[in-house]
Amino acid sequence: MTAKLIKGTEIREQILEEITAEVAQIKEKHGVVPGLVTILVGENPASVSYVTLKIKTAHRVGFKEVQDNQPEDISEEQLLALIDKYNKDDSIHGILVQLPLPKHIDEKKVLNAIDPDKDVDGFHPVNVGRLMIGGDEVKFPPCTPAGIQEMIVRSGVETSGAEVVVVGRSNIVGKPIANMMLQKGPGANSTVTVVHTRTRDLAYHCKRADILIVAAGVPGLVKPEWIKPGACVIDVGVNRVGEKISEKTGKKVAILRGDVDFEAAKEIAGYITPVPGGVGPMTITMLMKNTLKSLKFRLGID
Ligand code: NAP
Repeated sequence: MTAKLIKGTEIREQILEEITAEVAQIKEKHGVVPGLVTILVGENPASVSYVTLKIKTAHRVGFKEVQDNQPEDISEEQLLALIDKYNKDDSIHGILVQLPLPKHIDEKKVLNAIDPDKDVDGFHPVNVGRLMIGGDEVKFPPCTPAGIQEMIVRSGVETSGAEVVVVGRSNIVGKPIANMMLQKGPGANSTVTVVHTRTRDLAYHCKRADILIVAAGVPGLVKPEWIKPGACVIDVGVNRVGEKISEKTGKKVAILRGDVDFEAAKEIAGYITPVPGGVGPMTITMLMKNTLKSLKFRLGID
């Protein structure tokens, strides 16, 4: 293997330790800790496990964590009233509504009801606008793109002047990371190209990339011959391609693959993220970072 592996699991530990230390300092000086509420409607098993992990991580870094579980049949009006309650609660700095919501509830209406200054997921239109403007205007960059940028920067990869190619244009990954990398400032200043299903020659664009960020959700889409030797390859894709029995637990677990042919790509790239253990662990980590930022904005500290 020639590529340096960018391990999200290791970077997560560094960042969580930094957050824990900062939370302790703020608590000592200001007598307050970041407060994160996760609202879970119903009992979808995947949602339950995501929320449990978020709460566990919030607890680990010293946050006040509130898990607010609501029944599947909660009305839209009741859910909006609940959000309003947390919007007004000064001990809460981050509000997270776990998606998907039941069909009788308008997801957009619910997400737009969150106070933009407590929208630590960064999906409220106000925060999307702030991200577009860039610089000091940005409050909460969305968590997965923020994690990707952090991984690139912490690996020492030069972004200024770099050709960045983003495969995928979703609102949660492709568009925001493209926008973040083209901003004027550290960890960005890149020349960005975004490609998608209507792009005429995907291979041509990928081959030009100094930094290739792939978020398509298609296993093995990016072929090794599309990778520029020495490039930094960030594989966001998480695709279930089968099942196996876990050696640790003896239970059935999903076999996960990324959007890049990892085995071949790692012999050509300069840096590469594995799947699993790459971008995945960064999302919840950045949610913690955004919640801490929210409290710091409130206290008027950097
Ligand atoms: P999405 O909403 O389905 O968007 C996929 C994008 O990729 C679309 O813009 C699509 O183009 C493009 N695309 C799909 N097939 C393509 C192809 N053959 N050639 C070129 N472009 C293609 O997906 P997403 O939510 O961004 O997620 C992408 C992947 O990242 C998924 O595997 C998801 O599980 C993973 N993910 C991981 C994390 C994490 O690790 N924390 C977080 C979020 C997502 P069109 O717009 O033209 O359809």
